[in-house]
Amino acid sequence: MSAALAELPPMGVAGRTARLRARFEPEHVDALLVTRLPNVRYLTGFTGSAGILLVGPDDMVFVTDGRYAEQATDQLGAADVPARIEVRASQSGQRDVMRDAAAAYLRLGLEAHGVTWAQQRAFAAEWFVGAELVATEHLVEDLRRVKEPAEVARIQAACAIADEALGVVAPRLAQGPTERDVALWLELEMRDRGATGTSFDTIVASGPNGAKPHARPSGRAIEAGEPVVIDFGCVVDGYCSDMTRTLSFGDPGPDARRMFDVVRNAQQSGREAVKARADCAQVDKACRDVIEAAGWGDAFVHGTGHGVGLEIHEAPRVAATARDTLASGYVVTVEPGVYLPGTGGVRIEDTVVVTDDGAEVLTRFPKDFLL
Ligand code: ZN
Ligand code: ZN
Repeated sequence: MSAALAELPPMGVAGRTARLRARFEPEHVDALLVTRLPNVRYLTGFTGSAGILLVGPDDMVFVTDGRYAEQATDQLGAADVPARIEVRASQSGQRDVMRDAAAAYLRLGLEAHGVTWAQQRAFAAEWFVGAELVATEHLVEDLRRVKEPAEVARIQAACAIADEALGVVAPRLAQGPTERDVALWLELEMRDRGATGTSFDTIVASGPNGAKPHARPSGRAIEAGEPVVIDFGCVVDGYCSDMTRTLSFGDPGPDARRMFDVVRNAQQSGREAVKARADCAQVDKACRDVIEAAGWGDAFVHGTGHGVGLEIHEAPRVAATARDTLASGYVVTVEPGVYLPGTGGVRIEDTVVVTDDGAEVLTRFPKDFLL
């Protein structure tokens, strides 16, 4: 178990609903049906894989199936969330609970980014026949942008565990492992330290594979003098970490070293642009300018970063076309890269907390290229 897990402070789950309700009037809804599971978790503490939450102006109703009866009572109770919990095995039973609970609402918000076409049709035709269904966007996700200190503590613990895992695994590149070996070792070390899993499928991309930003770890043996892009993270109490390092056991030569230096400078420049009230597009530009000046503008084929929290990719986007502005308490990544097909790639990524005057870096593993 990692020392990073020793004391995670309690979260203020119950207080989040009031902030959600404050958005009902401006959004012209009387209530919100929360169906996206990360949002259900954020508002209730419930971690199961099936549950729907109806948030009204004064009350909340949570419905799940029999697998989660006890867990729902335990978790909502522990979080002090005053929701009425109903357990129904069937879809029609859950529908009846929600239909009755929502009967008084004229305008019922749905989460446009979480409801399928089929669900929307069922909601309109069978669940909420009398109500006007309103497609809302990101009501809960917007609340999740600013992390409470207790949420930051969990992301920080997940980052610390990833740092520790890479500290154990990186020296083993000298053994000539396969990409898959490295991915497995990292996952094992992170779980061994108390992570509940990886925050996404680990990327280990060696030599020419490094040119594919989201390469899958293969059975390819990593050779000395080959840059390896390692992008990975873990989950602690629901919260994700995300870090990329590009490492090489043995000197890969001046061309690769130059690529690395350019990306490292770009990443530093991006990190230095992060602070409250900075535009996300400006952070992207800070990275991109460095890479363009080196002649590789076309080889930086993705955005600079993304928010991290209960989901590995969440608001805001940090990209050239982003319209978001950073605020204190946001947690975002800064991850420029250069990818040259047939040759290889370099990416360096940190997860950082936005502060009033800068960024606190949570992923602390050193950014040295050569092992
Ligand atoms: Zn990543
Ligand atoms: Zn990322």
